[in-house]
Amino acid sequence: MQKLIIEARVNELAPRDPNPHVPFLPEEIAADAEACWREGASILHYHGRSAEGAPDNGREHNLQTNRLIRQACPILIHPSLGYVANDASAEERFAAIEAAMADPATAPDFAPMDVGSVNVDWWDPAAKRYTTTDLIYKNSTATLMHFASRIRHHRLIPYLVSWNVSFTRQIDAFLQMGVIDEPAYVCFCLTDGINLSGHPGTEAGLDAHLMFLPSGRRFVWTVVNYKGNLLNLAEKIIRAGGHISIGTGDYPYEELGCPTNAELIARVVELAQKLGREPATVDEARAMLTPQPQPVA
Ligand code: ZN
Repeated sequence: MQKLIIEARVNELAPRDPNPHVPFLPEEIAADAEACWREGASILHYHGRSAEGAPDNGREHNLQTNRLIRQACPILIHPSLGYVANDASAEERFAAIEAAMADPATAPDFAPMDVGSVNVDWWDPAAKRYTTTDLIYKNSTATLMHFASRIRHHRLIPYLVSWNVSFTRQIDAFLQMGVIDEPAYVCFCLTDGINLSGHPGTEAGLDAHLMFLPSGRRFVWTVVNYKGNLLNLAEKIIRAGGHISIGTGDYPYEELGCPTNAELIARVVELAQKLGREPATVDEARAMLTPQPQPVA
């Protein structure tokens, strides 16, 4: 069976309460990257954070993080574009990636493309009300076309995020236009608890995504459960040939005693091996995900 690509999603914007193991600073992220890589992760996803945990999208901060990760281990780097409500231009949103590509010591391997737009307000299930009311994750088609063209220019791997079926349909449209190449690496973003933006973090939520994956194309797919427990779905994902993107950034795993990111990766590897799938090495993951441009007719 195909090797399992495991991505460590180490911090997002998660607080250290209840899980104190969420890395914030570049040194902490790089140390976590190495620990996760040693356990079997082949991709690292992080967000820039200050010492207090606030978002830090400063240029030098991101470059330093990439540099330290590169020095620590060969794990593939999937950076964040660092915005939520996106009123910035496509060029501004992609500027951090452009800067990082100027030097192999800081260049990432992926650039994200969330292929659609969605409300991302925070929901309080206990109080039955929203705690924010105007957060929109906005990705216009023109912006996405710009990202696709710069991703191809830099020979990066597009990290295609699908929050619901309409995103997957747009990924198919981008493949039909020929602006991204197969195999398409798609991340199904399930959401739970305090975020209602994606499909529910349940078997049915995942099945609905898979049902609409266009046939006749080469896809590699992974699954995130933002604000929910992904381990509950891991066996289904592994058996179905999918890949796993997991970390304390998405969910604190308080029911497991607030593990470290590396401990979460170790759990995934143990389950995968039991089910007959070995973790992919960095080189294997890169080979499975590198797009192959279609020959020009
Ligand atoms: Zn992220």
